[in-house]
Amino acid sequence: AFFGWLLTRISNAHYQLEDEEGRMATGLAGRSVVVTGAASGIGRATALRFAHEGAHVLVADLNADGAEQVTREIEDAGGKARAVAGDLSDPQVVDAVVNGALASFGSLDVLVNNAGVMDRMSALGETDDAEWERVIRINLTAPFLLTRAALPHMLDAGRGSIVFTASEASLRGSAAGAAYTASKHGVVGLVKSLAVMYRKQGIRANAVAPGPTTTGIKVDALPDAHGPALVGQLIGANIGRLGSAQEQAAAIVFLASDDAAFVNGAVLPVDDGWSAV
Ligand code: NAD
Repeated sequence: AFFGWLLTRISNAHYQLEDEEGRMATGLAGRSVVVTGAASGIGRATALRFAHEGAHVLVADLNADGAEQVTREIEDAGGKARAVAGDLSDPQVVDAVVNGALASFGSLDVLVNNAGVMDRMSALGETDDAEWERVIRINLTAPFLLTRAALPHMLDAGRGSIVFTASEASLRGSAAGAAYTASKHGVVGLVKSLAVMYRKQGIRANAVAPGPTTTGIKVDALPDAHGPALVGQLIGANIGRLGSAQEQAAAIVFLASDDAAFVNGAVLPVDDGWSAV
């Protein structure tokens, strides 16, 4: 009898996370989600996948046309979306993103800090000030600014989930340069710090660490070294195949969802075992 009682107590404790059929619920339907860098690549795939789960999506990107296009795609499929265009390292654009989500969807439940740029793949000794500052500003300062602006609203609501797109260059030195590698290690610092500081207030922070993935990302100032060409340089290193933007999006949406309610401060490699070597 005692064990029966105990089992009931345990399953009651899980009750709120389950739907009528007893499945774990993603909890994303009707949630307000901001995805940065959502005009292309991993961000675009992530925005579309959130919309498929019934979330409302604010599509933020430097690329205004691309952001509008993704927004229309979501609306055409019956979803709710809004585009905000601008450079996310500009505090005014950061405010426009947060206020846009609140005005359009009434809350800000999930923030995906995904926008990022590559560097010139320079060794530290060859990294000039401009390369360093640009990459740190976009890959590290912009997520800091946006997260800081989103936090008060999540704290008020007593819940929030923040997901970062880190990199395999977050886990070790890589074929990318010093600036990119340092910026992506910095992103992991944000994740860990957030997880420790805010877990008692219902806010989770996690990251995916993608291995080489087929997107439009370009090596800074090397217009011909993009996508497949860049990956060609990396391929010597034990990589079975390239990832797709959709495979990264699936992991991001999982980390954002209530399915991952007990996952906090994690950096999930999505790289077919590349970082395990
Ligand atoms: P992508 O170039 O297709 O997408 C990046 C998007 O970010 C673009 O739409 C771009 O316009 C936007 N963006 C860039 N700077 C911005 C700024 N200042 N303000 C607003 N938007 C800005 O590339 P992707 O591969 O989808 O990159 C997404 C993330 O994945 C990046 O953080 C990148 O570092 C990371 N990543 C990619 C790979 C890969 O192999 N593709 C591997 C590891 C990590």
